Amino acid sequence: MNKKKGLLFVVSGPSGAGKGTVLCRVLDGDSNLRYSVSVTTRQPREGEVDGVNYFFKTKAEYDLMLENDAFLETQKVYDNYYGTPKAYVEDLRNQGYDVMLEIDIKGARQVIENVEDAILVFLTPPSIDVLRSRLVGRATESEEQLKIRTDSSIAELKEISGYHYVVVNDDIDICANDILEIIHAERRRVVNNGDFIENLLRGDK
Ligand code: 5GP
Repeated sequence: MNKKKGLLFVVSGPSGAGKGTVLCRVLDGDSNLRYSVSVTTRQPREGEVDGVNYFFKTKAEYDLMLENDAFLETQKVYDNYYGTPKAYVEDLRNQGYDVMLEIDIKGARQVIENVEDAILVFLTPPSIDVLRSRLVGRATESEEQLKIRTDSSIAELKEISGYHYVVVNDDIDICANDILEIIHAERRRVVNNGDFIENLLRGDK
């Protein structure tokens, strides 16, 4: 039997939802899941590796990709450009891997329009107070930047209704486990097991 095409999971949520740590845990917990490495024009932060955390590109390289319709979705997030490389995701899915995108909410909206079978997971902090204190806790930004981030994160919470699943990021282990359960449940959906069911009913192995 041919390996079936992998599923596409999109995890997004307001900044301050603490996506990074949770998603590392999820990826460690599932050998058939791959992280979609995005393209960005922002500078690498300390410890970030090209091709692992992001594909770091110049604006000219990014523009060329845009011209060649190479993005599944792309957005300007604050002062930098980010995009999901279409071919990278498709190759992984065609190899049978399930792929997880970690992108901003506007980018997720674009994926909804382009990929009808995408599974959308909204990661939210337990409350607006917690969201606020997480953003302050980072303290890598000026007061003004912090206010912009906080206001836009609160506004983004209103997008939850367009998603399939909502997961609260309070305890990291519970949250990672919730996302893994969603992945497992989606794999068991009848519509995602057409070949298996056909063979089963035909009496094949
Ligand atoms: P950071 O620069 O802190 O790594 O990411 C900033 C924001 O950009 C985060 O909200 C992250 O989810 C989002 N982001 C990262 N990659 C992509 C992408 O490929 N597309 C979109 N739309 N957003 C992305």
